[in-house]
Amino acid sequence: MYKVKCKACPIGCELIITKNESSSTGYTVEGNNCNSGREFGIKEVTEPSRILTGRVILKDGVLNRLPVKTTGIVPRDKIDECMKIINSTEVTAPIKKGDIIIKNILGLGIDVVAARKA
Ligand code: SF4
Repeated sequence: MYKVKCKACPIGCELIITKNESSSTGYTVEGNNCNSGREFGIKEVTEPSRILTGRVILKDGVLNRLPVKTTGIVPRDKIDECMKIINSTEVTAPIKKGDIIIKNILGLGIDVVAARKA
């Protein structure tokens, strides 16, 4: 069993991830309020260094938040800092899929880009 705080949005649900051979992902996630939390929990135990996904604040759009992802792997010890930056970043619609939202985040040599148009 593994406990972790979900960082996919600012609510911060407490997730409990348990190995479960009968699940298609190999794990069961509890404590999540949405599917993003489930994905976050599974990635947390299966991909310690990974492409980060998150949502930035969106102004003048249909949704309040815009899904984004990094263009490369973020080391585990930089994930918290990156998520804080992503969660507090504001953009204004219109945005095209692939637009750079945060250039060279934390100097890691990777960008955060829009995962969809808005
Ligand atoms: S589980 Fe969903 S609502 Fe809860 S922190 Fe994660 S993304 Fe936010």
